[in-house]
Amino acid sequence: MARRRRLSPVQTGLRGRCPACGEGNLFKGFLKFQEECEACGTDFRDEDAGDGPAFFAMFAVLIVIIPMAIAFQMVTGVPMWLELLIWGPVIIGLCLFLLRKLRGVMFNTAWRRNAREVPAKDMKQ
Ligand SMILES: [Zn+2]
Repeated sequence: MARRRRLSPVQTGLRGRCPACGEGNLFKGFLKFQEECEACGTDFRDEDAGDGPAFFAMFAVLIVIIPMAIAFQMVTGVPMWLELLIWGPVIIGLCLFLLRKLRGVMFNTAWRRNAREVPAKDMKQ
């Protein structure tokens, strides 16, 4: 347990590194997690970041982009199709960038706190 408190889950998560050793790559692909750390062998199979990263990524991007898009529209008066052409790729790109970072941070935070999903049969009604 002491090992779980040494490394910052935010720092290792942002870098996409193992929460236990900070060295092994956390991701197998762009968003999929490894089954175990390639450096220290920590098992990641029971861990999951859930849906939180997607919510926070979309919320953070849209809270910034929507006012910018509205201001851009008011200043320039460009047609709506051009607005979609400009802001669509910006929104998708920023969401994907933030999604990977936030998945790493939330995964590492859950691992550090030893959080596990509670099976439905164990939940109180
Ligand atoms: Zn490791």
